[in-house]
Amino acid sequence: MRATVMYGAGDVRIENVPDATIIEPTDAVVRVTRACICGSDLWPYKTMEPSDNGRMMGHEAIGVVEAVGADVREIKHADLVVMPFAFSDGTCVFCHEGLQTSCVHGGFFGTVDVPGAQAEAVRVPQADGTLVVLPVGEDDALMPSLLTLSDVMGTGHHAAVTAKVGPGKIAAVVGDGAVGLCGVIAAKRLGAEQVILLGRHPDRIALAREFGATDVVSERGDEAIERVRELTDGYGVHAVLECVGLEQSELTAIQIARPGGAVGRVGVPQDETMPASQPAFYNNISVSGGPAPVRAYIEELLPDILEGSIEPGRVFDRVTGLDDVPDGYRAMNDREAIKVMVTP
Ligand SMILES: [Zn+2]
Repeated sequence: MRATVMYGAGDVRIENVPDATIIEPTDAVVRVTRACICGSDLWPYKTMEPSDNGRMMGHEAIGVVEAVGADVREIKHADLVVMPFAFSDGTCVFCHEGLQTSCVHGGFFGTVDVPGAQAEAVRVPQADGTLVVLPVGEDDALMPSLLTLSDVMGTGHHAAVTAKVGPGKIAAVVGDGAVGLCGVIAAKRLGAEQVILLGRHPDRIALAREFGATDVVSERGDEAIERVRELTDGYGVHAVLECVGLEQSELTAIQIARPGGAVGRVGVPQDETMPASQPAFYNNISVSGGPAPVRAYIEELLPDILEGSIEPGRVFDRVTGLDDVPDGYRAMNDREAIKVMVTP
């Protein structure tokens, strides 16, 4: 089968690799009908050390089940399924707590150990715990929005949940990538009265406003903090969705939170240490977040997508076949595209 393999920074190739097959009796093999490139794929795209073996990329997919292992009970051949970016057994203590990204038998797709989904097919460990059957056909018009349940919509929602967004609250979203834009949808959906987007790209800002952003701050650093204070009677916001993961964005996130506020972090942190420990302490700011248990959120978000009340699939502004995936990485890295959908 053909798959996307990254060999080093800027070096993405489409290659013939061994077919995805059942290895464990709890596995399924899924023929990928839709996949996509993630903002988090751009970190290795910028920094990966050259590798002889490469890494099979991709952790977001919808597809049709082609085969299941002997111990798979719920997922059936020919089901159309959405695959969260992490696999999980659905039965351990953390899965029961709704934190499937900490599953004791879990892991992440598109890593060195588990091949990714920017491919013609993908092996899905723990199929019963991981996959969710979609009640639509494989070419349904809702496919882009359903695909965001793999990662970005669930991740934006996790940022909003961990930032304690609720009715009447003022939220701010740091970052205007696909996750930040989904964070705007999530903050509005959970009842935020004011949603301030911190972002700089005109096309993304326009989409954020359609998703429910009430204010936009395009300044950076101290000027951004000043602008947010002006928009909030000088107090700052209740809930900050940190959707970038750089030192500057984390610092800004803590500094725009009002005393007693909360920061929900979903941007993968690029540093070992967290900035602004003292302002967070003196202002009683909760700092939470982490890898989103998107599996836990699918049941909650799916009905809203099916009835059309949210349209996170609008973050996809480019569609490509497998052959052009390397150019998709380039386009996202150059900020030509917000998010690229792949039709293998
Ligand atoms: Zn588990």
